[in-house]
Amino acid sequence: NRKPFVAGNWKMNGNKALVSDFLSNLPANNSVDVVICPPSLYLSNFDNAAFALGAQNVSEYASGAHTGETSLAMLSELGCTYVIVGHSERRENHGESNDIVASKVKAVIEAGLTPILCIGEPLEVRESGGVFDYVKAQLDAVANECGKQYISQSVIAYEPIWAIGTGKTASPEQAQEVHAFIRQELSKLDANAAQSVRLLYGGSVNAGNAHELFVQEDIDGGLIGGASLKVQDFTTICQAA
Ligand code: 13P
Repeated sequence: NRKPFVAGNWKMNGNKALVSDFLSNLPANNSVDVVICPPSLYLSNFDNAAFALGAQNVSEYASGAHTGETSLAMLSELGCTYVIVGHSERRENHGESNDIVASKVKAVIEAGLTPILCIGEPLEVRESGGVFDYVKAQLDAVANECGKQYISQSVIAYEPIWAIGTGKTASPEQAQEVHAFIRQELSKLDANAAQSVRLLYGGSVNAGNAHELFVQEDIDGGLIGGASLKVQDFTTICQAA
């Protein structure tokens, strides 16, 4: 009985018109935790939204000489309660190592926000059979930095990199297998918290395939990229959770 959770990651897309569209047309949904993660510049345009707000990234530092970065205090002041941490695009294109990701998760939790921690393997790891080891190393880095209590204070998204933006979704069985593994790993640290933590699947989720993914036992919702840019599709996906 984990409450379903659906987050839209707009990435570097959208504009004020899309913000207005979501504010006017995304129906309130009390049975699902719905989060929109727009570019940070637009967070302040989401006053009085019927859904929660998340950022796509944050600095691990509190303030100071970090040109171009955004702090947790700033995100908080704009009403943001979630932060995506360790998205594969940040890991691959912006040099975010497991250690940096772990320090960001710690900073987010200490600031009282909820990290949406992203993990997931590249295609060559999937093809060589190394998925579990790869995902375990990503989880262990965070556990070592934050301690086991991070489990009860995070949402975790499994996003296989080969499924992101490719239209090539993991099959429900492939996704469930990794989700079950993640929950089992978490339960070694804290059996109770592992049962209540929400595990999301991300990677080419759309209005047509969301349901078959979300009915899997250990899949509690999704982290949605492209399909979160259309209010109708995103509404359908939220209703499927
Ligand atoms: P797509 O849904 O566009 O594949 O993106 C998934 C993702 O990266 C969400 O964070």
